[in-house]
Amino acid sequence: MKKLHSTFLTACSLLILSCATLKNQNSEPSTALERLQAGNARFYSHHMKHPDQGPKRVETTALKQQPFAVVVTCSDSRVAPEILFDEGIGDLFVIRNAGNIVEEEDVLASIEYAVVHLGVRTILIMGHEECGAIQAMVAGPDHAGHHEPAHIEAILDKLKKEEEEKAVLDSPARGQERVHQCVVANVMHGIHAVEDTLKSEDMVPKEGLSILGAVYDIHSGKVVFLPAGRSTF
Ligand SMILES: [Zn+2]
Repeated sequence: MKKLHSTFLTACSLLILSCATLKNQNSEPSTALERLQAGNARFYSHHMKHPDQGPKRVETTALKQQPFAVVVTCSDSRVAPEILFDEGIGDLFVIRNAGNIVEEEDVLASIEYAVVHLGVRTILIMGHEECGAIQAMVAGPDHAGHHEPAHIEAILDKLKKEEEEKAVLDSPARGQERVHQCVVANVMHGIHAVEDTLKSEDMVPKEGLSILGAVYDIHSGKVVFLPAGRSTF
């Protein structure tokens, strides 16, 4: 009888716990950051909803797009924003290049377009662990002095010249920790670059505009938002 009673209590506890989890999953996020965090939590916990991906969504977004966030991230094939944030067609305005370099005219123009013409108020700069561009910058030319092709070298030079990267390269950090810190530094540099650009541009409405920074872990599927990487105008 005692065993039956304790089994009943355990079952009740599990029911309460799963109801609480369900409530958390079902409660509507109130900000873009909460929506991104909730979508990523569904992704890494294997509870994806795959929203906004059917023919109906194609039909409605053909008339007008209203993405809720800009995501600037790396071209790395493992870093696919719509998948890892469990979003669909028309939800994210995505800009990608190797090393998520922000200071390129086409990248800044794309951000401005999303803010000015599509009304997006949240911009996420997202690097990722073990980024090949960052690893190449940290490693430098090999012992034989071999360099990368010209365009890749140009990206590596750009990364090396970032103030935030220089601070890490001058620090005692070594190995994977050095690469991780450079990934974070590159995200911070991207945030500062977007801030400077948008602040100096009179045509960009600033109210409610926020710039977020994050690093995606290619092992766990988790996006870690950087506490220092939040800028609100
Ligand atoms: Zn990368």
